[in-house]
Formats: sequence, C-alpha cells, structure tokens
Amino acid sequence: MAAGQWGNCKGCRYFSSNNPNPSDNETQRCMQADLKAFDLKVSGASGCNAFEARAGTGQKPYQEPAQPAH
Ligand code: SF4
Repeated sequence: MAAGQWGNCKGCRYFSSNNPNPSDNETQRCMQADLKAFDLKVSGASGCNAFEARAGTGQKPYQEPAQPAH
C-alpha cells in the first residue's frame, strides 16, 4: 500500500457512511482496497495514511499542527 497523506476516516472516501458529515464517534467499515480484506470497523476519529478525501465534503485532511516559531 502506497503511503499517502494521513487523514481522519470521517473525511475519507473509504469510510462507508451515508452521512454527508460523519461524526468522530460514528463507526463504519473501511472500504479501502487493501484494508477491506480485514473487515475493519473504524470510527470517524480514526485515520490512516491511505486517506483519500471524500468528494464534495469540503473537509480538509488532518494536518499536524505547525511548530511555533521561537
Ligand atoms: S482506515 Fe484509512 S482508508 Fe479506511 S476509512 Fe479510515 S482513513 Fe480511510
């Protein structure tokens, strides 16, 4: 599996939710091709680096906070 950008399941196209704006606590199956075989149930707050943004949600992938300037 190629390492992509890390993001939360709730904003990922592979999160099997019909909800246009899933919550952190919603649990659904992960339909990502490589992970599907494991029949994973993930929460909206979970995530991984196979993340791909859902179409039309406008949600941005999670980004690590920037280090404060010293
Ligand atoms: S586990 Fe990864 S690929 Fe599956 S829904 Fe969550 S972010 Fe997307």
